[in-house]
Amino acid sequence: VRRKERSVEEYVQGVLAGDRTILAQAITLVESNASRHMDLAQQVLNELLPHVGRSIRIGVTGVPGAGKSTFIEAFGTFLCEQGHRVAVLAVDPTSSLTGGSILGDKTRMEALARHPHAFIRPSPSGGALGGVHRKTRETMMLCEAAGYDIILVETVGVGQSEFVVRGMVDFFLLLALTGAGDELQGMKRGIMELVDAIVINKADGDNKEKARMAQNEYNQFLHYLRPATPGWETKAYTCSALLGEGIADMWRVIQTFVETTKRSGVFFDRRRQQQKDWMHAMIKEYIETRFFADPIVKEKLPMLENSVISGAKPVTAAVRELIEAYERSLGGEV
Ligand code: GDP
Repeated sequence: VRRKERSVEEYVQGVLAGDRTILAQAITLVESNASRHMDLAQQVLNELLPHVGRSIRIGVTGVPGAGKSTFIEAFGTFLCEQGHRVAVLAVDPTSSLTGGSILGDKTRMEALARHPHAFIRPSPSGGALGGVHRKTRETMMLCEAAGYDIILVETVGVGQSEFVVRGMVDFFLLLALTGAGDELQGMKRGIMELVDAIVINKADGDNKEKARMAQNEYNQFLHYLRPATPGWETKAYTCSALLGEGIADMWRVIQTFVETTKRSGVFFDRRRQQQKDWMHAMIKEYIETRFFADPIVKEKLPMLENSVISGAKPVTAAVRELIEAYERSLGGEV
């Protein structure tokens, strides 16, 4: 159904008033790839700029089944009860690749979704992870302008999504399960250097003791790693998202983190660095898109690929030839 398009002022006033319907429409606007919508979205974001940034941004990652939805539901509800306003966003690496979604498809977080102080937005679809990246950051800005003071960004630990989320949050949390031994051996080590806390979930019933053992193992291991945030020691904790145990403790840890890093300045340094990184990422994406869409590049690339594969040309020479042809075609444009 086509509705009448709103003006910049309607979006701005609606978002600032915390109108959820208009907030959702504004997010749809920033997610749109139509150039007409992009211009409008940029005007809206520009006007809202003085009202963004005043939130705590928390990333939550973990393998499917770790309990991310259950944790976010419990944690988000707890925060709402404390008087906070909580927005939940998702960076879902699968939605753009397969059209399916690990995060968005199941009916999730029903209780939190009904809470008047919570706003849940499923993962944007379409485009490369870079595009999803931009959309999520801009969605975050809209939510902040609408008065949400806690932003939770959920992602599955697959591929690049963890780095993308680390680049947009203040505090990054890994939900883990018992059986740490196996994970410590494998590739989970990389992620452990990205996070500010490891929370071993499902510490309930028979699993409680195992969770405590896993906590010790993780702590021993973490001791040898470089912390993700200067001046902050990443530690392992336990919780039961299902029973709501350890949830309040986690919030205390995050509050201490925010106080500590704001006092040292690391909090603000990181935000500034994130803005710069975001800008550079967008520049790269823009240039890359233009390059591969160029007719000369499209024409020459398959040929040059073949000569590289057959050994007729070294890679460096082929790349150089392609880039020179591209630059000539740019020159011809004006
Ligand atoms: P996600 O894929 O990471 O979002 O995981 P879910 O939140 O969907 O949880 C996966 C399964 O683990 C569900 O069946 C949950 O009910 C269960 N679960 C989540 N948290 C806990 C917990 O703290 N304790 C127990 N026993 N089960 C949990």
